[in-house]
Amino acid sequence: MMLMSELIEEFISLAIKTGGWMVLDRLYLKNKIVGIIGEETLEELSQQKVGEPIEDALTTLVESVSEFKKLGMGQRQELETQLADILTPPPSVVNALFAQRYEKDPEDATRYFAEVNSVNHFVGPVKTPVVEGDIHVWDSSISLADTTEETGRCPLCMSNEGFEGDSKTKNRQTQRLIRMNLLGETWNYQFERNPLFEQQAYFSSENHEEMTYGKDRIERLVTLSDIFPHYFVGEAGGMTPSGFSEENIEHASFYGAIGQAPLSKATVAQTSSMSLFPSIEVQELDWVIPAIRLVGKDKTMLIQAAHFVEALVLKHVLESSSEDREYGLPLVIEKTDKGYLLTLVLVNPSVLSETSLDFWEIIGCVNVTKESSKEETLEQVTTLYELVSQGIKVADYLVGL
Ligand SMILES: [Zn+2]
Repeated sequence: MMLMSELIEEFISLAIKTGGWMVLDRLYLKNKIVGIIGEETLEELSQQKVGEPIEDALTTLVESVSEFKKLGMGQRQELETQLADILTPPPSVVNALFAQRYEKDPEDATRYFAEVNSVNHFVGPVKTPVVEGDIHVWDSSISLADTTEETGRCPLCMSNEGFEGDSKTKNRQTQRLIRMNLLGETWNYQFERNPLFEQQAYFSSENHEEMTYGKDRIERLVTLSDIFPHYFVGEAGGMTPSGFSEENIEHASFYGAIGQAPLSKATVAQTSSMSLFPSIEVQELDWVIPAIRLVGKDKTMLIQAAHFVEALVLKHVLESSSEDREYGLPLVIEKTDKGYLLTLVLVNPSVLSETSLDFWEIIGCVNVTKESSKEETLEQVTTLYELVSQGIKVADYLVGL
């Protein structure tokens, strides 16, 4: 057992550890907490015992005080927000500490950022899937997007950082964004609140603008994989941070998470090469959705090869579509000792938004809360394998001339 007063000391240590305060601030922090909880409450509470081990100081403190003061749901949330705020350093400090750690070890830097987002409860626990073969299935009671609140506000925009919320929007006081340079542009890195993977994150452009397709986009993706070598990174497409109910947001972004995407574990049906890009291996994947993987260490050639394959597919798609919107194939990348593994999912992007097939399904995750069947969805997806291999053959022929 541990005394309430000791719990508060531990809470203060945690606040110092996340980087927002220094040892000199201990007394000040204690008084700040007294102010939040109420002096009399704290006096009476300080000799009370709380159970150990304390895995989560914020939860234990909020629970003890709420129980003692018989707080309602709203007051309890308010208390949690105020205490969580103490555990969250200002954006400038989080960014500086992230950069400092990143210089020595990118993994350590993202771990630090994940810890800040976890101790202050901005990010909830990772949901555990049932793994069925290559596919991850989540419990049917879990909806991947918590759409109860937040409408009309773009969840990827920088203006959310520290936003206290309003009638429509959840409190984001403890949200932090890491600024980074991506090919000369400022991009932000932030975490998903209801993650399906460890350190599930979004990377988004500084301004609210649409993704520009073409080679730039592939180069950005590959560069993100260089910046976060321990992450898999993919295109967010219609996928948005949870808590957003609008169908599509037009804010250029990618997503990522630590480790391997389920799609990356797909077995290779056959391999081939392209004369145009000799250092790149082409792998045909045995996957529920047709997919091609490009493997190689030469970054420039990899980007060119991916651009070539995508152009082959899109040429066909755009010929059969009347829309003038720009599209790209869903891409997923990760780095291994063999070099980059860049997977292009061969679906017709113009029908993608009209089907129930979402990006989670593409990388091997199924939301079982969905009604429509997979077969139905796949019928609407054009299989483009043939086209790609024909295109590669024609290109090889032309190179040989
Ligand atoms: Zn936006």
